[in-house]
Amino acid sequence: MKKLYFIPGSQDLYGEECLKQVAADCADMVEYLNQKIGDIAEVVLLPTVETSAICVEDMKKVMVDDDCVGVITWMHTFSPAKMWIKGLQILNKPLLHLHTQANEKLPYDAIDMDFMNLNQAAHGDREYSFILAKMNIPHEVAAGFYKHDHVIEKIRQFAHCAKAIDQSRHTLVATFGNNMRDVAVTDGNRLECEIKYGWEVKYWGIGEIATRAEAATEAEVDAKMAEYAEKYVMATDNIESVREQARYEIALEKFMAETKATCFTDNFQDLFGMKQLPGLASQNLMDKGVGFGPEGDYKIAALGSVLMKMSEGREGATGFIEDYTYDLTQGQELELASHMLEVPPAFAANKPQIEVHPLGIGGKADPARLVFDGTTGDGIQVTLIDLGDHFRIICADIELVEQPKPMPNLPVARIMYRHKPNFAIGTAAWCYAGGAHHSVVSTALTRADIAMFARLTGTELITIGDDTTEADLQKFFMK
Ligand code: MN
Repeated sequence: MKKLYFIPGSQDLYGEECLKQVAADCADMVEYLNQKIGDIAEVVLLPTVETSAICVEDMKKVMVDDDCVGVITWMHTFSPAKMWIKGLQILNKPLLHLHTQANEKLPYDAIDMDFMNLNQAAHGDREYSFILAKMNIPHEVAAGFYKHDHVIEKIRQFAHCAKAIDQSRHTLVATFGNNMRDVAVTDGNRLECEIKYGWEVKYWGIGEIATRAEAATEAEVDAKMAEYAEKYVMATDNIESVREQARYEIALEKFMAETKATCFTDNFQDLFGMKQLPGLASQNLMDKGVGFGPEGDYKIAALGSVLMKMSEGREGATGFIEDYTYDLTQGQELELASHMLEVPPAFAANKPQIEVHPLGIGGKADPARLVFDGTTGDGIQVTLIDLGDHFRIICADIELVEQPKPMPNLPVARIMYRHKPNFAIGTAAWCYAGGAHHSVVSTALTRADIAMFARLTGTELITIGDDTTEADLQKFFMK
């Protein structure tokens, strides 16, 4: 179980009784938080910060505990913020500033100076906020009485986001081959990815998979085929093609276990030693939380893995997709999003079918893949681009819809969605923002989740949705 440390702030000016009350109130608060968010992470109370030395000790505990994914701070009384400087200089984990009180209502009849001194988050939290701003420390603020639903919801969201950032910092993308030749948006600065998000991006030759696939035993392949038979509908007679994909998945799983890789990319232009492009193999691995990027797209592989972690335990589907083609019927415009093979089964509205069809590019044998119609509901489409001097996240609200008619000749899985506020503004905004054709679509996450991730990682964010207007489009500019 991952942990969030809870660090309250106070000082010794108001006496021992006051500090005892602070500790007791914080213990109550932490107990309540554990009831409400304990399914995501455990909240653990650390000693109240009364001095700079205590703050440093608390933050050291945060930094050496690998299970700790973030920190919640709250100033019960006034806590002079110079006491927080040295501790905050050590902190390098997601920070939530909980702007709350132990009491919901003012005791108008009984209130005296002692009560005011004990309960002064309005004062202390502002002093603390100043030092966070002055030190330019990324953080999220949750404001309101801590038992109110919207505050708990924000803390839950923070816990998910902190776990996703922890995942981000433990991400290793194995790239088999390089980026697809001539493609721009999948490229970028791998070094900056590691500095900013913790993504290690390492190259291996696809031969690593080809040789391990060849070495897979018949018993291993039989076991993998049983797994496929249980999860999917076998809708092909070309069993050998499916067994070949099983070998790829076995090889990829072994390789990832050996290297501790959490994500991988491949490239249909670089399949030396392989009979097929991995299709079913990649799809089934994505279903197990493995981040995948086609055509060497290491950024989308890592982003997919991070956002899948963020959506863990939440209802809905999250996974990689590619913008493909449109239905431009006026006023009813829709997008059909898919890929040449690798659409995550998380998006399936029906039980996926294993099918084998020719693949026009890559010059390899007919690959087995999962084919299905897409899920429906409100969702977001998220991408991350590398602009050289900074990264940009683009997040668009979309509505996933049922495909209006069957597409019996389309040999790949697909989803369909409607852009917001409408096709003209929604897709134009995406284009102005430089949005990629690879993205992560989620019906489990919202724009607020992505905004939190962007804020906590210090990433530029452009959002598109029902609140995007023609006037917003006019504000996009060239440097
Ligand atoms: Mn693609």
